[in-house]
Amino acid sequence: MIWLSGKELARERRKVLRQKLKLLPQPLCLAVILVGKDPSSQIYVGAKENAAKKAGLHSRVLRLPEETSANALSLMIEDLNLNPSVHGILLQLPLPSHLNAARHLQEIDPQKDVDGFHPLNVGKMTLALPALTPCTPLGIMHLLLHYQIPLEGKSVAVVGKSNIVGRPMAQLLMHAGATVTVCHSLTINLAEHLRNADVIISAAGSPDLIGPECLGRPAYLIDVGINRLEDGTVCGDMQTQKLSEHPHCLGLTPVPGGVGPMTIQVLLENTYFAATGTGIDTESI
Ligand code: NAD
Repeated sequence: MIWLSGKELARERRKVLRQKLKLLPQPLCLAVILVGKDPSSQIYVGAKENAAKKAGLHSRVLRLPEETSANALSLMIEDLNLNPSVHGILLQLPLPSHLNAARHLQEIDPQKDVDGFHPLNVGKMTLALPALTPCTPLGIMHLLLHYQIPLEGKSVAVVGKSNIVGRPMAQLLMHAGATVTVCHSLTINLAEHLRNADVIISAAGSPDLIGPECLGRPAYLIDVGINRLEDGTVCGDMQTQKLSEHPHCLGLTPVPGGVGPMTIQVLLENTYFAATGTGIDTESI
């Protein structure tokens, strides 16, 4: 069993990105819009700011009050779209309940859409055309590639079908030649579906969801979940300790230190792609 360390891979990739950024005529700027005071979002935005600084990329966090109107948010996005010194725009989710995320995500210039959530980028990614691609699934693809985990012809089970993780993950895996099963909260007998998989990727947001009963053959396990427990600790979707000791577990991502750092690293890389006008060819990942 090997630990699949996103932390280490992100550090390596950050060094490469730093060198690339030094060759550019001007420093790059990532604008992050944070509306309201969601505690998890505050932590994620802080982590993104930190990583950007380490990579040599300027991040500008625009903190807006909870009661910000839809029109005010639209105007801010428009302003950033038109600002040539801003290369990437990220709208931190979730938004307060009176705001419609789908509306505002579509207002972001697709060329500055570093989260890859704009319908144009989603469509291109689905068609395996060069596109700004959602950070978490792309980070997982880099991790699988780095650890030489085979995908062609392999069975991969994805738990979760959100627009942010599950759906784009399934698309990228199909592009890579995997046979993909997507499970979700209405799936009957989850373990049965997972027992046939060579790779299990869980993005459900449910602590302890995946245990040894889900391993029917040797498999690699990717834990995307970030769950805050009542005692303040953070865990993923997988029963990490039990699974790591199971003879069928070939590799496992830790939480924290697995998928999370890769998500942030890809966000910075997407800002580079956005600025240099180069998309990612999702078929060649
Ligand atoms: P979401 O709530 O939008 O989607 C969750 C999905 O999981 C849904 O499709 C739902 O049907 C499915 N699901 C929920 N409970 C299930 C169950 N018991 N059995 C089977 N399927 C179930 O969440 P999301 O935004 O996709 O995030 C999922 C998790 O991943 C969260 O814990 C989130 O914090 C984490 N996350 C981590 C990173 C990272 O970088 N590590 C990035 C994004 C999200």
